[in-house]
Amino acid sequence: PATERTIQIPSKVKEKIDPNKQYSTERGSEKDHLYIVVIGHVDAGKSTLMGRLLCELGEVSQRTLHKYEQESKKIGKQSFMYAWVLDETGEERVRGITMDVGRAQFETKTKKVIILDAPGHADFIPNMITGAGQADVALLVVDATRGEFESGFELGGQTREHALLVRSLGISQLTVAVNKLDTANWSEERFNEILNKLKLFLKQAGFKESDVTFVPCSGLTGENLVKPPTELELCKWYKGPCLLDVIDQCNVPVRPVAKPLRITINDIFKGTGTGFCVAGRIENGVLNKGDKVLVCPIKEIAEVKGISINDLSSNVAFAGDQVSVTLSGVDIQNVAVGFVLSDPVQQVPVSSRFEARLVVFNVKVPITKGYPVLIHHQSLVESANIVKLKALLNKSTGEVLKKKPRCLGNNSVAVVDIEVCRPICIERYKDVKELGRVMLRVAGVTIAAGLITDIYNT
Ligand code: GDP
Repeated sequence: PATERTIQIPSKVKEKIDPNKQYSTERGSEKDHLYIVVIGHVDAGKSTLMGRLLCELGEVSQRTLHKYEQESKKIGKQSFMYAWVLDETGEERVRGITMDVGRAQFETKTKKVIILDAPGHADFIPNMITGAGQADVALLVVDATRGEFESGFELGGQTREHALLVRSLGISQLTVAVNKLDTANWSEERFNEILNKLKLFLKQAGFKESDVTFVPCSGLTGENLVKPPTELELCKWYKGPCLLDVIDQCNVPVRPVAKPLRITINDIFKGTGTGFCVAGRIENGVLNKGDKVLVCPIKEIAEVKGISINDLSSNVAFAGDQVSVTLSGVDIQNVAVGFVLSDPVQQVPVSSRFEARLVVFNVKVPITKGYPVLIHHQSLVESANIVKLKALLNKSTGEVLKKKPRCLGNNSVAVVDIEVCRPICIERYKDVKELGRVMLRVAGVTIAAGLITDIYNT
């Protein structure tokens, strides 16, 4: 049971906080929160791995586990029982509403780890963008089975696209679970083969070698997930930490608590009492119960009636926290996913036209002036057009290669202007990283990622 306690207020926000007031929370954990997104090719074993991990850590009740064991035996697919654990955590989520980003959590020695975007959704990428937009670190799961790693890694496989996406969304720390190594007899040679191929690619994708850790494991057998390995073949050559300890060693990014408040809304629902709730992540700043916030882009003032973090109520929440906020003073009908709760004085910019520096991954037809796209900005999806191609840049130096190029092909880097069908809340990347990134998609394929470099008054 959770107990009231005084929390450690980061020193940077002390000046904003009334020293005579007792701030308390029922978080029940003093551990740092680390948000993780799980990525990888379909069937790499993501759900099985995370399900097994949660079971090993006692996060799943014996009763639930027993139920799944029986059901999975019945259909002759016993290996499914772990994958179901994650679905259940998603479904059982409080308030009876389904969210795109399902959540499950577990603890390591020093951290409380929240899994964003339980994998296994039908249309994974848009959800993954939302999940990854809120994550601190990523876990990339690859299937070590001969032939399977190769097909997931080849062009068209999701291993590459996911890794590129999370890096473009600003995630720099990556743990790679070299999974299903049971199918390769725990071969060191196979492990190294995968490691070498991925190392090269990840470096090109912009990950620093020191920020990437590889762990051999099996989600199905549970090997090397939360305890040191016991398989003789693996013990012979692997002396590193288990998956849980690798996750524990990830750094929690510095939370921008002293900057003006920004909360991106990724879910809206009716609360129990008066008012309604919005869920989202505090990108910047501090939120106190009783605060007045500006709902943008509609620019209406709302009052914060309650805050909860991981479903426990709290009087205060900081940048980095995933919160549900009960609001009053605005009509639920007027609020939509993708809106931002902003500091009323230092407001979030609202515009329908901005300049971005794009990295083009994958286009069938080169991008030309007027090119229609869907932009993903946090949890928002809107139609937009690339209205101006301003400059083609050198990929590594950023130097202008050509002004006003006629088109942009694969793997190019360019400065463009984008016009969205309606005004949205955006920031320049240099001001607020999380609100300064966009992904561009066409017909279900991510074609480019961009950083917002300028915002025009519209
Ligand atoms: P996801 O699509 O990445 O979430 O993959 P799943 O977790 O649904 O797993 C896909 C298939 O691989 C299922 O049939 C699992 O039973 C199987 N699988 C998952 N992990 C392992 C593993 O570590 N070893 C073996 N041999 N099979 C696994």
